[in-house]
Amino acid sequence: MLSSSLSSGPSRLSLLLYAVAAALLGVASVWMPLTVVDLFRGAVHGAVLFVTLWLFCGWLPRRLSLPGQILAAMLLGVLVGLLFPALGGAVFVREYLGIFGRLFILLLTFVILPLIFVSVLTGTAGIGDPAKLGSVGAKSLIYYCCTTALAVIVGLSLVNIIRPGAGREALIQRSAPVERRLAPGENEAAEPQEEPLSIGMRLQEKILPAIIRNPVMAGENPLVVILLALVLGAALATLGPAGEPALRVFQSLDKAFITIILWVMRLAPIGVFALMTCAVSDLGLVYMVTLAKYFCTVMLGLSLHFCLLCLVICPLLGGVSPRRFLRHMIPVFQVAFSTSSSSATLPVSIECVSKRVGADRDITHFMLPVGATINMDGTALYLTVAAVFISQVYGMDLGFQQQFMIFLTAILSSVGTAGIPGASIGLMGIVLASAGIPVEGIAIVIGVDRLLDMSRTVVNVTGDCVGVLVVSRSEGKMSA
Ligand code: ASP
Repeated sequence: MLSSSLSSGPSRLSLLLYAVAAALLGVASVWMPLTVVDLFRGAVHGAVLFVTLWLFCGWLPRRLSLPGQILAAMLLGVLVGLLFPALGGAVFVREYLGIFGRLFILLLTFVILPLIFVSVLTGTAGIGDPAKLGSVGAKSLIYYCCTTALAVIVGLSLVNIIRPGAGREALIQRSAPVERRLAPGENEAAEPQEEPLSIGMRLQEKILPAIIRNPVMAGENPLVVILLALVLGAALATLGPAGEPALRVFQSLDKAFITIILWVMRLAPIGVFALMTCAVSDLGLVYMVTLAKYFCTVMLGLSLHFCLLCLVICPLLGGVSPRRFLRHMIPVFQVAFSTSSSSATLPVSIECVSKRVGADRDITHFMLPVGATINMDGTALYLTVAAVFISQVYGMDLGFQQQFMIFLTAILSSVGTAGIPGASIGLMGIVLASAGIPVEGIAIVIGVDRLLDMSRTVVNVTGDCVGVLVVSRSEGKMSA
């Protein structure tokens, strides 16, 4: 029902629902004291919320594709975030528009731990099948580990040299309400308790987190979950036919979790709009400048790694000239960029790598699906830069041990990332937590995530395709 109302525009019933929700929240925003001026303010707030709901759930979906809607949401968010505080609406933005952002983050992280578990498990079982493996499996693993580690090193070096978040500690003081909104609980002990929460803040801090909570694996250390998945996946593969029924269950669960994430992604425009509006409203233009520096750092890292793969590894180890590789891979880049999904790009990558570039067919069919699940160079680089950037914004000075933890968890998290749009945002919390960086810092970077997602997916897919060439050549199975 949700998806149909999102894709086909608003029915009368949904318009009525938006109106009721907007009116309730509008009145709630001026609950005490109830004067004529307050009532007028409440009506204006209700109208703004109604237009927001109608725009994102009804009007935009009929006119733009999802990436287009998210881009539009970002721009609108910046505009509204600059305009509203100037008109005295900063509190309203934080407390009521913020509900949509909070809801989006909660839903996004709702199934992330079980998703990591089944995704790593099925990927490992796929690789670990002794019949399929042999030297191809071993070489693929070595290639995946080396290139992903290389990507993380590129990211770590750049973010430490450029330091895009340095000197922005003041942002955090100004963004305190954002932190409270996104991570209730940890800071609560230090909070003065007297001030009664508005309905909007109560929804964000108490009611929604209490309802949208995944009971499965909640509170588990993600690294423990990944380790269990690795071991269980290997064990199921070793069992052979006896392990297949269980494996099939996990494979179908994997698909179910991905479907849930795709449902949630349909709410991305309104979520991104709300997060962007709140961030710009709370932090102002300084935030935009800082964010632009962060964006450029990630893009520079992705471009460097892309060049390394295409201009160095592809000709030296894969034996294919960069010109030939790039010419034949154009459709793959286009699909990866526009869908932001390694999995959706898979059919095109298989076609281009085996038929156009000339890699071995069997190796292509074995490596690309596994690579689309566990080999994500762009994602690992992105997670690294994001984590260190957020630590810089928080004024933290990360030592060798913390940076090493980021190195390790970024690699492991990229293994657990599903090949779907926005999948790694949910995993960023793992990388941040591993180095003691506040997880709510995700809010600082989420606004530009979609744009970076498109680019990092291109690098992810390129890494997989170059890997097939390298392994095919080492097995002597490249056709000219
Ligand atoms: N969208 C990426 C992919 O499909 C995953 C991510 O980094 O979110 O490769």
